[in-house]
Amino acid sequence: MGRAVARLDRPGPHGSAAEVTTMPAALRRFLAHPRPPVLLGAVGAVAAVRALRGPVRRRDAVTAAVCLGVQPFVEWGVHRGLLHARPGGRLGSIGYQLAGYGHEQHHRDPTNLDTMFLRPREVTAGAAAGVAVAALAPPAAGTVAVCFGLGALAYDWTHFLIHTGIRPSGRYYRRVWHGHRLHHYRNERYWLGVTSPIADVVLRTSPTRDEVPVSPTALGASALVARNDRGERTDRPGRPGRRGRDVRTAGAAGTTGPRARGSYPPV
Ligand SMILES: [Zn+2]
Ligand SMILES: [Zn+2]
Repeated sequence: MGRAVARLDRPGPHGSAAEVTTMPAALRRFLAHPRPPVLLGAVGAVAAVRALRGPVRRRDAVTAAVCLGVQPFVEWGVHRGLLHARPGGRLGSIGYQLAGYGHEQHHRDPTNLDTMFLRPREVTAGAAAGVAVAALAPPAAGTVAVCFGLGALAYDWTHFLIHTGIRPSGRYYRRVWHGHRLHHYRNERYWLGVTSPIADVVLRTSPTRDEVPVSPTALGASALVARNDRGERTDRPGRPGRRGRDVRTAGAAGTTGPRARGSYPPV
């Protein structure tokens, strides 16, 4: 089983999200990468099992509405507590092994598609739990499992889209796009929402850019992008300057100098 899952997660290089500049290209890239189709299949499997348990009733609609309201806070909590878990202490070490290490790699090189998406290992484990709940628990619990899957899918897609070279349009999307850029290039302790800014507003992790210092992690990511812009070697040998385009959008968070700031769309 473990080997089969590892085969699903074909190693890269898978390129850079910054190479993607149109929505159709983003969709193609999302589906061509080995990881997102695993998530799509997992959500489909949980939904199919839930469908076998009977029709969607009013109770399911209410359950789905509650899930929608809770989703921003779940996302915030997972991002802060699990994705940013650091070794040290029993819980921290477990969290770091589960997800913290992978997310740390993403922060080191934010547009790198090798470390962008949810890994099949965690997705298949979650899917197995979701299918069991959908098959054995009351149908409304199965609806919760489907909502969880859809939330993960929304997160993976939106997160990828934010790191592409597609310019943000629409007030809502611009807000989450800007927030996630600040999370990477200003300070990773803030702006933890990806699909929604609601939890950041409620939990006070959505300050204005200059209210918080630039963190060492953000400085590292910005330096990497800046080096790429000058066409020097990066941490991915043989691909000099590939993410040069991204310096314009990455600098959106205002940490990579006047050139970056100058091309930042107004928010
Ligand atoms: Zn990111
Ligand atoms: Zn993060």
